[in-house]
Amino acid sequence: MSAEPSPMLAQYLAIKEAHPEVLLFYRMGDFYELFFEDAVKAAAALDIALTRRGQHQGAEVPMCGVPVHSAETYLHRLIRQGFKVAICEQLEDPAEARKRGSKSVVKRDVVRIVTPGTLTEDGLLEAGANNFLAAIAAAEGSLGLAWLDLSTGAFASEPVTVPNLATAVGRIEPKELVLAERLLTDATMRPVWKEWEAAISPLADSVFNSQAAERRLLQFFEMASLEPLGAFTRAEIAAAGGLLDYVQLTQKGQMPRLQRLARVAPDALMQIDPATRRSLELLEGVEGGRRGSLVGALDRTLTSAGARLLTQRVAAPSTIKREIELRLDQVECLVVATNLRDDTRKTLNRCPDIERALSRLALERAGPRDLLGIGEALARAQSLARYLEDADPPLRQWQAALTGFESLCSTLCDTLVESPPILARDGGFVRDGASLALDEQRQLRDKAREHVLALEARYRAETGIASLKIRHNAMLGYFIEVTTTHQEKVPANFFRRQGLANSSRFGSEELSELESRIAGAADRARSLELEIFATLCSAVRDRSEPLAGLAAALAEIDVAAGLAELATQFDFSRPAITEDTEFTIERGRHAVVEQALTASGELFVPNDCDLGGGQRLWLLTGPNMAGKSTFLRQNALLPIMAQAGSYVPAAKARIGIVDRLFSRVGASDDLARGRSTFMVEMIETATILNAAGPRSLVILDEIGRGTATYDGLSIAWAVIEHLHEVNRCRGLFATHYHELTALAERLDELTLHTMRVKEWQQDVVFLHEVTQGAADRSYGIHVAKLAGLPSAVVDRANAVLERLENDESRSPDSILSADLPLFAAVKARSRGARPTQSSHPEPSAVERKLDEIDPDRLSPKEALEVLYHLKTLLAAGPG
Ligand code: ATP
Repeated sequence: MSAEPSPMLAQYLAIKEAHPEVLLFYRMGDFYELFFEDAVKAAAALDIALTRRGQHQGAEVPMCGVPVHSAETYLHRLIRQGFKVAICEQLEDPAEARKRGSKSVVKRDVVRIVTPGTLTEDGLLEAGANNFLAAIAAAEGSLGLAWLDLSTGAFASEPVTVPNLATAVGRIEPKELVLAERLLTDATMRPVWKEWEAAISPLADSVFNSQAAERRLLQFFEMASLEPLGAFTRAEIAAAGGLLDYVQLTQKGQMPRLQRLARVAPDALMQIDPATRRSLELLEGVEGGRRGSLVGALDRTLTSAGARLLTQRVAAPSTIKREIELRLDQVECLVVATNLRDDTRKTLNRCPDIERALSRLALERAGPRDLLGIGEALARAQSLARYLEDADPPLRQWQAALTGFESLCSTLCDTLVESPPILARDGGFVRDGASLALDEQRQLRDKAREHVLALEARYRAETGIASLKIRHNAMLGYFIEVTTTHQEKVPANFFRRQGLANSSRFGSEELSELESRIAGAADRARSLELEIFATLCSAVRDRSEPLAGLAAALAEIDVAAGLAELATQFDFSRPAITEDTEFTIERGRHAVVEQALTASGELFVPNDCDLGGGQRLWLLTGPNMAGKSTFLRQNALLPIMAQAGSYVPAAKARIGIVDRLFSRVGASDDLARGRSTFMVEMIETATILNAAGPRSLVILDEIGRGTATYDGLSIAWAVIEHLHEVNRCRGLFATHYHELTALAERLDELTLHTMRVKEWQQDVVFLHEVTQGAADRSYGIHVAKLAGLPSAVVDRANAVLERLENDESRSPDSILSADLPLFAAVKARSRGARPTQSSHPEPSAVERKLDEIDPDRLSPKEALEVLYHLKTLLAAGPG
């Protein structure tokens, strides 16, 4: 046995060597095959059969494969499990290879590396979410963050610092994060890397060299200087250029369409750290996914691009008054103009996603369906432009972006059939009548039989041989058959091809020509269609910049119309945006809770909140379940909604722009990162105390809960003082430590508020109303009772509470050791004594018998017998 690998295996090994870190999909005919370790990993990940193919170095070669036509599904599963996949295609027809000799191998090479951050296919992407690829780079002692979405063309950067890195990356939520290897070892950034571990792709440090990166950017944008785009830091340039390098590497040089690099100024967006994002459930509800999240409650968009834009705005609300006001103006116009809103929304409904189609077009991955989608979107844009003609100025500004595509629109719509295939190579996407040459070839292909019959009829007439036939077989192809009796009538231009017993078979020049025309017609029809496809693609590509502008306008209109629809549906009002630190909410509601309550026919109780005019901090006490957390969250969500450009669920709202929002609601263990509940709580509190400023809003729910009472109380005390004196931010603070209310006497901007409850026939009714003042009790035991704690425990808790309240000098321990029934029993048992009869009686004979019974194993008759037996036991008395 030779140790030399076969030529094909040698080719495979060479390609694999160049792509060691990724799975290699090696094209063989109709399959992508995987070999060696790749096969073992992929077979396990995809749950498909692992087979063998030949031997290499004395061992069998493991192999598995996926069919090309369904490869996208498998790719999707692999990418979601964190794999990257190199697609290696056949670059020539196998027939070509055979011409070079029987042993020659078809030319193959990797045409693309599919990674989580570089997807472009609809089947691999979430329609309503961006798919960001981000990079972080360091240069000149500072950090830069850049991100792009290959599927939409978005491309932007922002300077970052170590303290705000987690916040910035959390806002972008990249599917893949590339960075220089040397940054990975930087201890100060390790917590961020840990958070994004699954998404990180480390690259060589040289990729992020800022000079090379700048050259790459200049070349890509065909510019002499980046200055016109903004004052980028070297680190931003290094990050953005590094991204381009990674795109080049994964797309094998096929460059995407990207917007000019946009610069996000550090203070242009509301800063929301990851813990706040999670606790406020901005983009994801507790169950994961959009259900229960703020964006889920706000989203009335009708297009994927609209949903993506809304998500971006909620994830990163603006802090620029002019920008917020413009968004609100647009929503207002559409709230007022009901008919216009309805028409707009009807037109936008399910409008194709042209952003993504344009990106596929640039990467030469588009198909006829993408082109038709663009055509359809253009047609809708024309209608929208007409609707906007008489609209108010804030809406009219979109008109220019929507017009000027009439001829491209009709070219696309008139050329393409109504439901074209995804791939151009499948053919059949050009309408009949769109191209004369194509029609001719199609006719020839489809009407081959008619052409043959026509020639046959002509030959019969010309030769006078009524029995002459034109027939076809696999060996001869088309031939003319004449019986022996008519041999002398055969004209001279027929040439003999085969003689049989009773007939002869002939050919003619005309017939050969017809045959080759028929055979070639299908091929020619396909290549003509591909030519038409290429022409249409380049017509679209020539206009890709204005088309991207149109796509952006459609998304903005969709968001504005969706928010207007929502505002009308739930009676939201336009917030007044100010540049001071006002925060006045009249009859505010929680957008998400309200929708949930409305769905189940309940009413949400609105509440006011005013953090201006000498009452920057509110200390909220009140019973469990009274609605404190809901009130806190609703007030944190209002500025997010307002600054995202939405109306808000309140009768009136005046909001001084919030630059940073912090929320610490509820405690959660972070065991995955090895931190206890209390540690997490303190880390998050430290972040707030270190970063909150006068324009910030801080929401703290029961801080200091996860430790001993006096430790927790002391921490909460000191935190409030610090927020009041040092941070000087606006804030809402909910607590069960009633002792904290004493702080109001010392801190002049701290006011006390409480949730109203009504006691009625020994029950408590939660009114969900916030009023001035402090609560005197928490009603925790009452809630415990509602939750179904055993009544013995509830009674005992009430008794302990009563003693604690009546005798504050006694320590809890001395009270516990007092002779109360339940604990007495527990103590007695722990000392080895027999429990008393009253608290833990011995089981009776009836109970013992009942315990033995397994109802599932009893026949009806046996069950009846057991019943009689139990009755007898009962009659016999206890014991
Ligand atoms: P705890 O102190 O136990 O954490 P809490 O005071 O923070 O409780 P929430 O969790 O905010 O109470 O609310 C308790 C319940 O009351 C929730 O189920 C919520 O749906 C309902 N609720 C809260 N606020 C309102 C309101 N304004 N209108 C109607 N229902 C409300």
